Amino acid sequence: MDSPKRLLVGPLNIVVIGGSLAGLMCGIALVHAGHKVTIIEKDDNERQSHMAGVCLGPDAEAYLTSHDRLKNAFSHRSRRVQALNSDETIKIFVNGRRDITSWDTYYFRLRACFDQYVSSFYPSPPHSVDSDGSAIYVCRQQVTDMFPASRSDGGMVLSILDHNSQEVKQTKADLVIGADGPDSFVRSKYLPAVKRQYVGYIAWRGTVPESEVSESTRSIFSRSVTVHMMHRHHCIMYTIPGINGSLEPGERLLNFLWYTNESEESLHDILIDGVDGHRHHNLVPAGRVREGIWNAQVQRAKDVPLPLPFLEVMIKIRGPFIQVITEFCAPKAAFEDGRVLLVGDALSLFRPHTAFSGTQAAFHALRVEEYVGRRITLQEWEEKVIRFSNLHWAQSIWWGKFYQHHMAVALLSGLQYWWYCGTDRMKSWWNGEEPLLRTSSNRVDEYES
Ligand SMILES: Cc1cc2nc3c(=O)[nH]c(=O)nc-3n(C[C@H](O)[C@H](O)[C@H](O)COP(=O)(O)OP(=O)(O)OC[C@H]3O[C@@H](n4cnc5c(N)ncnc54)[C@H](O)[C@@H]3O)c2cc1C
Repeated sequence: MDSPKRLLVGPLNIVVIGGSLAGLMCGIALVHAGHKVTIIEKDDNERQSHMAGVCLGPDAEAYLTSHDRLKNAFSHRSRRVQALNSDETIKIFVNGRRDITSWDTYYFRLRACFDQYVSSFYPSPPHSVDSDGSAIYVCRQQVTDMFPASRSDGGMVLSILDHNSQEVKQTKADLVIGADGPDSFVRSKYLPAVKRQYVGYIAWRGTVPESEVSESTRSIFSRSVTVHMMHRHHCIMYTIPGINGSLEPGERLLNFLWYTNESEESLHDILIDGVDGHRHHNLVPAGRVREGIWNAQVQRAKDVPLPLPFLEVMIKIRGPFIQVITEFCAPKAAFEDGRVLLVGDALSLFRPHTAFSGTQAAFHALRVEEYVGRRITLQEWEEKVIRFSNLHWAQSIWWGKFYQHHMAVALLSGLQYWWYCGTDRMKSWWNGEEPLLRTSSNRVDEYES
């Protein structure tokens, strides 16, 4: 087998499997380093909106500083996390900055930077520069198999199914990056035992334009991430960009999530599709949630009752969707002697409470850039990405259990998380580096009331 040293010579022919945030971030960094990058995506260029908020944590900021060639703002800045109590008083949890964008805005921005894709979000993409490598994004193509090339020149061979023609073609790559999400084909090939696990609760979700809610509701939510905690369930609201990434007050969206614990039996009923009756597994998309199921949840919100501002937004959601919360963390990230790397949600799926998946994707992309640029070894790359993922995965479990379970159960998860923090501090001290533990709230802005 060729050594990783031999792999990392000259501009490489790199295939990225999966063209969402993690794949695009890796792709852009590698094109900027002069490599030839092909992103293979099974879905279309124009996706159905995720209606999701993605937080730009410290590594995303570092990534964007180096690789974003568009300069306008594309996130909404929340200045604190606050609790809205049942009597509608507000308690400040933590003063700290959180820049939150939407999945759609982020995706089209990264597309504009990767292959100059023109979208309604970014009609004038930035130009590439002479030192860039080539960037190709192919959609409606799915990687179905992958194996090491037989000849002595090394590399990997991939089988790709074209969803338009139904033909299967083969292509070669010096390096393959598996950025193919939580149901990763790459992970299932090398780590078949690592699977998504249901954590016992789901999120009832949806968005409403700010212009559609009352002035008082808008002012409560506009500058803060707002949480309402109840006995083993909680709601959260934050602001994300609106249509075409608009940050204009009124056009922005209020993003509502209500996490409720659900048994396997009730989950089965909730996940039945409202149009064709089949059972979903991880997501019931907008337009597919059964009317009776959603109406019953709205009635429950009135019975609880949720504080009026939360209730007002929930009642006004037109396209509700349901997300099943699942998680895993893979123990290995590099395969085939460093010719196959696993990144993003394919490597580790966090619970959403820490809003850290987008930051993880950026951290992985920056470390991939260092590995391919020979600034760190394969062993260093793998140790860092696994340590980062374990640490923030454990953090997301601790937060999730704090919100949704008994405090004693939560504290056990807290202990595991603090163990990972201690290990991280020790390793970082030993290596003479900064710890990998990140927080989003390390920058505080003045919050005038
Ligand atoms: C409905 C929804 C809501 C979300 N809400 C939030 C939120 O509120 N906040 C937050 O921080 N994060 C949220 N996320 C997660 C966030 O979108 C991801 O963390 C982020 O996109 C980075 O993930 P990724 O690129 O690693 O994987 P993904 O975004 O899952 O992308 C994987 C890509 O790989 C493609 N693919 C898979 N297999 C193959 C194959 N064999 N061949 C070719 N292509 C393949 C898929 O089509 C997909 O485009 C949400 C995700 C979803 C789906």
